[in-house]
Amino acid sequence: MSPLAFILIGLLASATVTLVAWRGDRRRDLRRCAKCAYDLTAVAGRVCPECGHAAAAESELFRSRRHHRSFLAGLVATIGLAFAAMFNLSQGSWAQRVPRPVMAVLLNFFGAPPASGGTLPAPDPKLKSSSKSWDRLVWAHQAAVGLDAWAKAVLASRGPISDAELAQLVPLADAAHALFAQVGGTFSIEAWPVDRVPDGVARVRAGAANDSELSARLNWVLAELQFDGADYTHRPDFAFVPDEIIQQALGHQDAAVRKFGIDRFGRRLQLALVTRKLPLPPGLSQVEAIAATDSDAAARRRAQDVLAYLDSFFPNARQHGPSPSR
Ligand SMILES: [Zn+2]
Repeated sequence: MSPLAFILIGLLASATVTLVAWRGDRRRDLRRCAKCAYDLTAVAGRVCPECGHAAAAESELFRSRRHHRSFLAGLVATIGLAFAAMFNLSQGSWAQRVPRPVMAVLLNFFGAPPASGGTLPAPDPKLKSSSKSWDRLVWAHQAAVGLDAWAKAVLASRGPISDAELAQLVPLADAAHALFAQVGGTFSIEAWPVDRVPDGVARVRAGAANDSELSARLNWVLAELQFDGADYTHRPDFAFVPDEIIQQALGHQDAAVRKFGIDRFGRRLQLALVTRKLPLPPGLSQVEAIAATDSDAAARRRAQDVLAYLDSFFPNARQHGPSPSR
């Protein structure tokens, strides 16, 4: 007999016990102790000689009786066996069959990322293509810890982002973006630990619509998690790096931050050109200025690359103003 048959027989038995115990002993014609069911037919008064329970009223002695302990035991067994049956019927390795809330607890206990010398916690690369489903889930969990650290860093402060804060966050943004690009290649059924991060941030964003500075921070968090640098995901909560952050970066005194600004401007531009729906992002004149006169050679080159890209796809876009769709 298969394990499933055993489980189903046990399920039937425990469900029967539960129902019978719930229904209980319906007889109302016997005079019994309400607590221990001792027969009080021959006893005068309402004090049970067996357990000492004193009934408050005569009617209490004629109640039908529900078997509470059997009922509870049967219910627990029924629920447990129902889970066992679901587990047995589901497909895949155990790590995919255990319910996700349980797995999330296990991953939090046993799936901490290795010590990292980098800007964000990073997953153990050996686990990503392990043959064990558990290992791959741990990898996804560790990646999620890194992405969560990025979200927490951006949301550690409130209000507008200062230039000093921007300089601190830019390396984290690049690390988060690179990490998300790696996650994009994972088997989707095992990417759920990662999906929890943008889903959580998107929920916060839904409640922050009235706070434009907080919204900008949340949009930046999401932007780095949903764009892999070459293409965009089709998530309904897809977000761009906010234009004001790109413009702030393009005008930053630190060349590394300006390069970040050019890079994210380039992404926004690419999306505007590919979809042909959005206006060109603001900041074009800043990019042109960097391309012409920036003191940093690498920044100049990157800005020139972005402009060359724009000119090659839409030769007239720069002369004809903000909309590439004309
Ligand atoms: Zn009694």
